[in-house]
Amino acid sequence: MDMAARHHEQRLFFSTGTRHGEGVDAIEGLGLWPAVFARYRDLTRLRYDFPLVLVDRGPVAGTLRSLSSVVDEVLQEIAPRGIGGERLRKHVLRLEREIRVLLAGGSGGRLAELWAEATPRLAAPGDPSAEGVLTHIAEKLQLDGEVVDCDRAMPARVLTHLWEGAQHRKAKAFRTTIDRLVIKLSDILRAAFIHSQAGQGADALRASLGGGHRDTFDFNAMSRLVARNVPKDELPAARRRRIEGALAVLQSQRFFPDPRLADRPDPPESYAFRYDNCAAAAAAYRERLPRLAEVVKAISIAELEADGAYVDTRHDAFFANFDERALSADDIALFPDYLVCVPPDRADAPENAGMMDMLSAGLPVKVLIEATDLLEEASVGTGHFAFGVRQVRLANTATGLGGVFVVQTASSNLYALRERCAQAFAHRGAGLVSVYAGAGAVGELPPYLTAAAAMESRAFPAFTYDPYAGDNQAARFALADNPQPEADWPVTPFEYADETLQRVIEETPFTVADFVLCDARYAGHFARVPRERWNDAMIPADEWLARDPKSVGDAIPYVLAVDPDNTLQRVILDTRLMQIAARCRTFWHRLQEQGGVHNSHAEILLAREKAKWEQARAKELENLTAAAVASAPAAAGPVAETAPVAAGSAPAAAADAVPAAPERNPDEAWIETARCPSCNECQNINDKVFKYNENKQAYITDVKLGTYRQLVEAAEACQVSIIHPGKPWNPNEPGLEELIARAEAFK
Ligand code: SF4
Repeated sequence: MDMAARHHEQRLFFSTGTRHGEGVDAIEGLGLWPAVFARYRDLTRLRYDFPLVLVDRGPVAGTLRSLSSVVDEVLQEIAPRGIGGERLRKHVLRLEREIRVLLAGGSGGRLAELWAEATPRLAAPGDPSAEGVLTHIAEKLQLDGEVVDCDRAMPARVLTHLWEGAQHRKAKAFRTTIDRLVIKLSDILRAAFIHSQAGQGADALRASLGGGHRDTFDFNAMSRLVARNVPKDELPAARRRRIEGALAVLQSQRFFPDPRLADRPDPPESYAFRYDNCAAAAAAYRERLPRLAEVVKAISIAELEADGAYVDTRHDAFFANFDERALSADDIALFPDYLVCVPPDRADAPENAGMMDMLSAGLPVKVLIEATDLLEEASVGTGHFAFGVRQVRLANTATGLGGVFVVQTASSNLYALRERCAQAFAHRGAGLVSVYAGAGAVGELPPYLTAAAAMESRAFPAFTYDPYAGDNQAARFALADNPQPEADWPVTPFEYADETLQRVIEETPFTVADFVLCDARYAGHFARVPRERWNDAMIPADEWLARDPKSVGDAIPYVLAVDPDNTLQRVILDTRLMQIAARCRTFWHRLQEQGGVHNSHAEILLAREKAKWEQARAKELENLTAAAVASAPAAAGPVAETAPVAAGSAPAAAADAVPAAPERNPDEAWIETARCPSCNECQNINDKVFKYNENKQAYITDVKLGTYRQLVEAAEACQVSIIHPGKPWNPNEPGLEELIARAEAFK
């Protein structure tokens, strides 16, 4: 079979997704992975961010630590530097790996438990010391907590842990305030009692004196003496009611109840703040709002009473009308936040339909939403898939609600974004954390790699949005941790041995097609091409996408993959997949702009300023040249570096060669090329008449490749009014009278 015929089969596959003939092999069952993942086949051998320790003991309780960082810290503390500590380091690093193996095998538990389980597995018959050393080190660990791997359940566990940490800190501050006020109010009541008739009675006096002296005193006689002229109650009735009422509210509130009351009969039961749906959380918040207002009112009254600043005539009326409408954001921020972990399959359920309303209302709710499937069926029955726009746009939409702290990330990147997540939980008001943990995908890849593939390929980019970080988008929005954020696709060096066993290092892009390759459901969009049928028409998918669609010709896009023997393969893609990739890239471009990368406004402004600067420079040169000519009578005439470019001339050459300025025909169409900021408007109207020179500035090729109407419309669309349409070349073109009148403005 000749080259053309083979190429035809590949083209047929590209156009239709149909594998016909030889050399376009099905990939089902081949176990192909994106080539750059070849080195990650065994994650237990790598030291990376996972597993994580959800620290709940020790000085950093409530935080996250990677197992590797815990091990590094221990080694730094106990292993002598240099060769002396080498043996110890080896033992501990082997133990770290063993814990990874245990987790990969389905084990779980706290760090201390896993450490103890892994230790005997490392005991070698010839080296019994290892077990003893590792057991000894375990006792030195400063922290402990559940250890979690990067599986599908991990995001909810990790975010719940961070939320609990934030609530714990809030509870501490809240309890400090409440306890202080309870003591103050109790002191006021106690002092009033002591100075009252009841407080000066024989029984009260007896009770206030130490046991050893009780029998030596006549408390009845003492009471008669000291209780003379004592008021029945030092506190006016209204004040007593107010203080006792505030005290009762503070002691019985259920937001952060007093843990010391837990063993008393009938202690105040804490409210629940964790939910699995938005409707229940919003309902609970609204139902408790009057109780919350009562507590705020009690705190305010207690503060005034404690300072002796309560003035009945001034404060009574205010507190008589105090209810939830009087609450400020500062008041609400004292209380617990609600956490809603929406189960992955319930994001679209009716009970979560009000999520955006809840977030935009600024309720103190933090919502974890897990993107379920980034690739969705485009429509029922077509068998085609589409890029899951809804999932990807959810977090982006939330950034426009105002006041919502947003974090979007793949689960593989959650540890790297732990500080931002902690900030989201510390944020006053609503927060949304959207995580993709590899759900929906079918294949052999571990969830960590599936999630990492989604983020690397721009299918699920990471970003954060802190609404109060500053008064501009640059301060608020960050394209967090996406690799090479300025590029369409990240590129990494990929090393392999070629057919002659020579080492080759190739810069390999990771596109959305690589991500789709990880999902067995879409294997039909790929075809493996055996090495003997590789040809020049096959080009990398990123290069195919970068080309102008009109000039892509017969090129067939491919991605590099490896099979289970790590043999390099080329896998071609069909046109539908390339459409998805292009769409994904469009979304990525929009996100880049939000993050200040390739911002179109900034680029147009820059080009405009550059054009202005060049024009001023040209003018200056022109003046200098004119002055030189004037002082040299033999010179031929004026010259200009940036003479206007007439239709059909070569503008780049004009700039370089400094020709004599031509006498311009006013009827001829032309562009002030040097001032063009490359906005593309003219090319959108006719890309044959308007072309860019090598400086990406527009010039006119041949007016006869278009109509006079297009010239006039381009002049009107041009952002800097540098297109001059001249006179029409075709006297028979319809509507010329009107067009000539419109062109007058651009003479
Ligand atoms: S419309 Fe004007 S500014 Fe935009 S590319 Fe064309 S000539 Fe340049």
